[in-house]
Amino acid sequence: MYWEKEIETMNQNDLSKLQGVRLGETLERAKKSIHYGKRFAEIGLDVGAIKTVADVEKLPLTTKEDLRENWPYGFLACSRDELIRMHSSSGTTGRATVVFHTAGDIGAWTNLLARCMYMAGMRRSDVFQNMMTYGLFTGGLGFHYGAEKIGALVIPAGAGNSKRQIQLMRDFETTAIHIIPSYALHLSTVFQEVGVDPRRDTKLRIAFLGAEPHSEKMRRKIEDLYGFKAFNSYGLSEMNGPGMAFECPEQNGMHIWEDNYIVEIIDPVTLKPVPDGKEGELVTTTLLREGMPILRYRTKDLTRVIPGPCECGRTHRRIERFKGRTDDMMILKGVNIFPIQIEKKLMDVPGVGTNFQIILERKGFNDEMIVKVEVASEFFDGDLLKLERLQRRITDELKGDILITPNVELVEPGSLPKTEGKAVRVIDNRKD
Ligand code: ADP
Ligand code: ZN
Repeated sequence: MYWEKEIETMNQNDLSKLQGVRLGETLERAKKSIHYGKRFAEIGLDVGAIKTVADVEKLPLTTKEDLRENWPYGFLACSRDELIRMHSSSGTTGRATVVFHTAGDIGAWTNLLARCMYMAGMRRSDVFQNMMTYGLFTGGLGFHYGAEKIGALVIPAGAGNSKRQIQLMRDFETTAIHIIPSYALHLSTVFQEVGVDPRRDTKLRIAFLGAEPHSEKMRRKIEDLYGFKAFNSYGLSEMNGPGMAFECPEQNGMHIWEDNYIVEIIDPVTLKPVPDGKEGELVTTTLLREGMPILRYRTKDLTRVIPGPCECGRTHRRIERFKGRTDDMMILKGVNIFPIQIEKKLMDVPGVGTNFQIILERKGFNDEMIVKVEVASEFFDGDLLKLERLQRRITDELKGDILITPNVELVEPGSLPKTEGKAVRVIDNRKD
């Protein structure tokens, strides 16, 4: 049941000691990079004085802007000859950032992904269909290597081409998939279209859902549609990508691998660490990266550490399902709203289909929120009264939660734009 029992169940004390040693080694490497060499000199940091993991607070924070300013090689801590691969972020919030890996880095990352997938129950007897974009995006090759390491049969399907995905699943009896949650919802409508029932006509039993925030309700909806067990997978390219934090069979929070990362949650305003249990921004430090160590990286992702041990016996702390990124927060009439709040409410309403979009407009001095919601196809039968009731119900549900009355527009199933990658949930047309 464990990929690496000793490390996965190591007591917190030994884990901290290990982190202290690996932090020391990381700093020795990091100081060779242009960026950290300069930063350490500016703040007069004596690398030798950092002895334990508790000292991490003395290190400078690193931001996406730092990476952008040091484009492309300013964070390199080794010679370019030692590098074997480059990846990049998706560029969801601006210019993409790049990350370079040595052979050692790829080995360590691959091992983490194998650990994650094994934890969720994948074995060498599984047929694994990876429905993520291959290429610079980390979700493709990252998972691919991890699954091969377990010894599963890997189908590198890549993203999109839904009918072909379904055909592959049927012909080769796929048992495990890696998929973006918004795409999983869309794919279920294509299953319907081609008259294939994923529960009855496929052998799917495990799914890894990652790359974008999604609510517990959305997970359950996807599990119901397909009849598999779905596990939340989190990572960001700056920290390798997927493999950082992953759900165990308990499906109650994601274990974040503390032998590879130092985990802090900080208050995004004061930048001070908050105790376990309190919500804040996840900040992580790489502990095994050779090519491009990154210290105290501000992920801009909001979560909290779930206090207490996990039933599965793993000792690495768990983080809660993400609320979203600080960049996703919409401010409307002084109220802070995350897209995931809208999603949670929508998932509760029967008749809601598989896609939605939020549009923000400014009318005079007033901000307005329009929520476009696809109606489930079985609900879209020309009964206008039913649609009117549905629209009112959605409006009331949302108003009750976000305290603003949105303009709810019901649209035909399949009519909202779809992406093969991360869903674009919010379109902000307000001008300052
Ligand atoms: P970008 O930052 O440009 O989107 P990445 O491809 O590196 O590039 O994406 C990492 C980000 O994706 C994370 O910082 C997080 O915001 C989001 N993300 C990835 N997996 C999850 C997940 N399981 N739940 C919520 N958000 C996720
Ligand atoms: Zn667990």
